[in-house]
Amino acid sequence: MFVDSHCHIDFSDLVDLGDKLFADMREVGVTHALCAGVSIERLPGVLAIAEARPNVFCSVGVHPEHTDGEDPDAVRLQALAQHPKVVAIGETGLDYYWHKDQPEWQRERFRQHIRAARACGKPLIVHTRDAADDTLRLMREEGADACGGVMHCFTESWDVAAGAMELGFYISFSGIVTFKNAAQIKDVATRMPLDRMLIETDSPYLAPVPYRGKLNQPAYVPHVAQEIARLRGVSVDEIASATTDNFFRLFAAASR
Ligand SMILES: [Zn+2]
Ligand SMILES: [Zn+2]
Repeated sequence: MFVDSHCHIDFSDLVDLGDKLFADMREVGVTHALCAGVSIERLPGVLAIAEARPNVFCSVGVHPEHTDGEDPDAVRLQALAQHPKVVAIGETGLDYYWHKDQPEWQRERFRQHIRAARACGKPLIVHTRDAADDTLRLMREEGADACGGVMHCFTESWDVAAGAMELGFYISFSGIVTFKNAAQIKDVATRMPLDRMLIETDSPYLAPVPYRGKLNQPAYVPHVAQEIARLRGVSVDEIASATTDNFFRLFAAASR
């Protein structure tokens, strides 16, 4: 039994797969998925999938790459998070790779998301790229340890993982951990405690080996678990059951 803790199955390439996407998940034992919100404008589509599928949960938030559209404050996010299938706030965070020039609005947006997560008692889904120091600093300043959450699609150093885990956060690995040149990520996946680990596809992006470069989908998340099992010298079952338990512990509003 596997859970894809972060995917974007509301994106058109994956919507186009229709029921086949869910049949393929079932066939390989991927029992649940979390569809992460990236904007308020896309939220109705995300909610529609979560409402139609008992095994799909979702989150509400605005991705740090999004420059257009509604920029909700903590009160608005908290209100949207009352929906019973919304189990987290995000994805949120900082992405200085795409927005080197104007990070202040990203920081303010991230703060609003952390406040919303604290206020509604739901965990945060954090995206960070080329911004690890500021991401951890804002999490500390805003008391993100009170809501907890996950550093999704983790690509940072051991020190960043340790800093996040100190705040009670989980670390989620995507298909990147299967890539040959991902030595640093493989190292974190090998060393970190298993009771803080999640796995994800971040589909439709970042398909794991052997599907690298193709359209990614939740049915591929077992390949992430397989690589982590190989690195740690344990069975895939052990990684599957630990990451599934961790998912339902962290996203307490989700149920099996
Ligand atoms: Zn992300
Ligand atoms: Zn994402």
